[in-house]
Amino acid sequence: MKELCKYGTHRVIYPEGTLPQTAEKIDNEMVCHDNEILVDVDTLNIDSASFTQIKNACNIDVEKMKEMIENIVNNKGKMQNPVTGSGGMFLGRIKEVGKNLNLDLNVGDKIASLVSLSLTPLKIEKIISIDLSKDQVNIIGQAILFETGIYAVIPNDLPANIVLSALDVAGAAAQVEKLVKKDDSVLILGAGGKSGILCAYQARKSAGKNGKVIGLIHSDRHRHDLEKLNVCDYIIVGDATKPMEVYHKVKEVLPEMVDVTINVVNVPNSEMTSILPTKSTGRIYFFSMATSFTKAALGAEGIASEALMIIGNGYTKDHAEFTLDLLRESKVLYEIFKERYGSDK
Ligand code: NAP
Repeated sequence: MKELCKYGTHRVIYPEGTLPQTAEKIDNEMVCHDNEILVDVDTLNIDSASFTQIKNACNIDVEKMKEMIENIVNNKGKMQNPVTGSGGMFLGRIKEVGKNLNLDLNVGDKIASLVSLSLTPLKIEKIISIDLSKDQVNIIGQAILFETGIYAVIPNDLPANIVLSALDVAGAAAQVEKLVKKDDSVLILGAGGKSGILCAYQARKSAGKNGKVIGLIHSDRHRHDLEKLNVCDYIIVGDATKPMEVYHKVKEVLPEMVDVTINVVNVPNSEMTSILPTKSTGRIYFFSMATSFTKAALGAEGIASEALMIIGNGYTKDHAEFTLDLLRESKVLYEIFKERYGSDK
């Protein structure tokens, strides 16, 4: 047995010397070591870029999707999509807490993990169902959280499935609060999506009444929700994989271009669509898991843009509470989440 490590390296099978996120395979034996938490898992919330890739690869055939997910977990010991590299998070109940951990947790407490499934030891006994509209997989299974693996106890005042959906993207709006300053103009690519509406809401709050918020949506599917939220000065429809098209559409409404762009789409090839409409002095937040470092770095260089580009770290201090508070403060936002991702149960 390897020496227990707070980052979980004792569970890395290969390549040796790596951490669990970059490891090809980790040990998913469901034994709770002294510095771990063992959880009975009810639902996996698969990262949107990963779920979209699996859905497309299986032609939306749920049985094939089940098989693909089971194969990934059997091969890697974790739910890390080999194409996107991304994971998601889980909802579950505490089964055992390692004796070295001094935590305010009881057996049966309902928690959502706040670290990625791409580094979380997971065993799936059975996939019960897949909810295509929520990117969620209901399972019988177990997972391990390492000593550094953060989680949120499901609060009593919000339904668990809504909390799970919101916490999946908890880092996004919390980062917008840090990045967007008063009077900024902000472009959100994917503004109708789950993180998109949270980011649009926060962008309006941070930019204030003299700022500008532009929401790019892919189709009219989510226009109604965004209009109801009433935070965008402009809603434009466009394809985030077509940089020139979007650039011209943004220029039409805001000729001076934007200070901040938030990329929350779930498909590849949207790097230049983020960079082109952003001022050279601006900031770009790539939350999308389909972002390519190479395309962003070389693309920006190619058009002589020195905009600051930020990797969408899913974690920022107190991000979970921050995001749940947005749902508590805006009834409209809550209703949109309830309609899309949950129920009042
Ligand atoms: P989501 O709810 O599925 O939203 C994605 C949005 O992108 C949808 O509104 C979709 O619009 C839009 N979109 C797709 N293709 C587009 C295109 N060609 N042009 C314009 N818009 C397009 O996803 P989410 O859960 O908010 O996640 C957003 C991104 O964040 C994903 O890439 C996800 O992997 C990533 N993520 C990152 C972290 C992190 O830690 N950095 C954590 C969680 C998630 P339609 O539905 O109308 O096509």
